[in-house]
Amino acid sequence: MKKLYFLKLGGSTLTNEDKPGTARKETIRRLLFEVKRAKSSKEFDIIIGHGGGSFAHPFAKKYKVNEGLKYGFSRRGAIITHNAVHKLNDIVVNEGLKAGVNLYPFAPSSFGVWNNNGATNSMVFHISHALKNGFVPLVHGDVVMDAEKGVSVASTEKVFSFLASHMKPDKVILATDVDGLFTANPKIDKSAKFIKVINGRNIDSALKSAGSSLKVDVTGGMHSKVRSLYKMVKATGSTGYIVNANEKDRLYSILVGKPNIYTIVKE
Ligand code: ADP
Repeated sequence: MKKLYFLKLGGSTLTNEDKPGTARKETIRRLLFEVKRAKSSKEFDIIIGHGGGSFAHPFAKKYKVNEGLKYGFSRRGAIITHNAVHKLNDIVVNEGLKAGVNLYPFAPSSFGVWNNNGATNSMVFHISHALKNGFVPLVHGDVVMDAEKGVSVASTEKVFSFLASHMKPDKVILATDVDGLFTANPKIDKSAKFIKVINGRNIDSALKSAGSSLKVDVTGGMHSKVRSLYKMVKATGSTGYIVNANEKDRLYSILVGKPNIYTIVKE
């Protein structure tokens, strides 16, 4: 059976943080080219997910989407945030067409009411069908119907955790705007040290080092990334990676199994 990889393209690399609602199209295309190149030299299936970046996070924050339907503006805010991520999704699909990667989009909000265990199995069924038929399924962080709160934000990591529990990926790759995990936020602390491997021995200290993002982020920054990635790795036996998507060929290296600069997350 072909290896299955999950790849999250972080909102911080796909979008321009200084200008809400603008995509970094060349970066998106380059990353998708790396996927295309890797696929032409190695056989693997891949599911790609993307964050909401500067398209969605400012609205999610403004309308307190993660608090559910508490306020008079909550429903309007849920729709505006969902729409914003959809716009970015459209751009990613189009860049895929240009790069020769056949991304087929699946909105996580279309697969039933979400609870702690994720969505309905029909999401797994549809995505597996697309994979079997030669597509690269594309998911994203989304505003979803929530069993308890009415609506909530399902981050790409949460979507991946749900899919991973059914599909058992071999690699789970989180592509972001730093080289990997450091002993402190490298964007603030220049003496922060790079952590090459996270495993059962250092996961607690790794979690203490991992903080939030510097920009508007409603899904918890590096801390929640490391926590959910380690949980996924432990539950499925996959290998996790945190990689800098702004640096050329680092993603490619992971896809084809070559050494480069990235943090590896093991059981
Ligand atoms: P993305 O949008 O790419 O998914 P985030 O912005 O949510 O990623 O998280 C990446 C950010 O996490 C980095 O830009 C950095 O500012 C922050 N961060 C906090 N603590 C750490 C740490 N210990 N090591 C690396 N990055 C960290």
